[in-house]
Amino acid sequence: MRSLDYVRAGSIEQAVATHSKSPSAFFLAGGTTLLDLVKLDVMPADQVIDVNHLSLNQIEVQKDGGVRIGALVTNTALAHHDYIVEHYPVLSQALLSGATTQLRNKATTAGNVMQRVRCNYFRDGHSPCNKRQPGSGCAAIDGHNRSVHAVLGTSDQCIATHPSDMCVAMAAIGAKVEVQGTQGKRSIDFLDFHLLPGATPWKEHALKDDELITHVVLDPALANSRSGYLKLRDRASYQFALASSAVILVTDGDTVREARIALGGVGTKPWRALDAERALKGATLTPHNMEKAAALALQGARPYRHNAYKIALAQQAIVRNLSTLTA
Ligand code: SF4
Repeated sequence: MRSLDYVRAGSIEQAVATHSKSPSAFFLAGGTTLLDLVKLDVMPADQVIDVNHLSLNQIEVQKDGGVRIGALVTNTALAHHDYIVEHYPVLSQALLSGATTQLRNKATTAGNVMQRVRCNYFRDGHSPCNKRQPGSGCAAIDGHNRSVHAVLGTSDQCIATHPSDMCVAMAAIGAKVEVQGTQGKRSIDFLDFHLLPGATPWKEHALKDDELITHVVLDPALANSRSGYLKLRDRASYQFALASSAVILVTDGDTVREARIALGGVGTKPWRALDAERALKGATLTPHNMEKAAALALQGARPYRHNAYKIALAQQAIVRNLSTLTA
């Protein structure tokens, strides 16, 4: 049995100072993923720093129309918040498509941003896995890689997908991650927060060792936009995406004024499809143009033995989402 020291943080300053002295410590909020990984011995830790009592559970609408979300706001509270439902339906839908009611009641905004991969070889604790044990290899590349493995942003070191639905919606909306460490506060663009695996798959995000996420700040919603999240998966509940799309659309008649597209289930990080967005801007939403944009979104995808089907599936997730929003 592993024993852990428990520290209940009374302030953000205390939390980050404690973490800076113990790099293998982890911040505990909802605990819906991290405690599993500690019990499985996938995440070696000797200390938990409980941040649940910090005042980071507010949802604040900003003067510019954006929203500042406290790190401890639960997925349930965020999904059902009136302003989010009205102005960011894509985010509400993405949140409600994830996990189960019980998990969403506990899981927090920052925890969702920080969630670890669902690769079975990562979580079994003994297979070769560069993310868990740097330099040990990647059992997934020639192994079973059908469902939680990517076709975009992979490397010869790691091909695991980022599992979050919420983050896909945030990537489409545009956001900043506010963090605080012993050296002060800073803000990280959401698209720069998660890192590609490259040669260092164990480095998953841009946080420094002592930094704590305090807020996620959403950009103001695009005026007169429609948005939606479409998640395709093996079963309708409590299942990770095989492919998903978050789409935000502003149209003038049949012409696209602005389009935002992000993908889940196919990338090693929440995947913004900028080429597809550019192709749609100024175009009419014909089936041909939607399919052309979807093809651009998957340009450069690299299939593995069991997941080549994801390329067509993700393209369909984009076309169907665009069609539904246009109808
Ligand atoms: Fe580990 Fe990544 Fe390979 Fe999975 S895909 S075994 S997480 S290195």
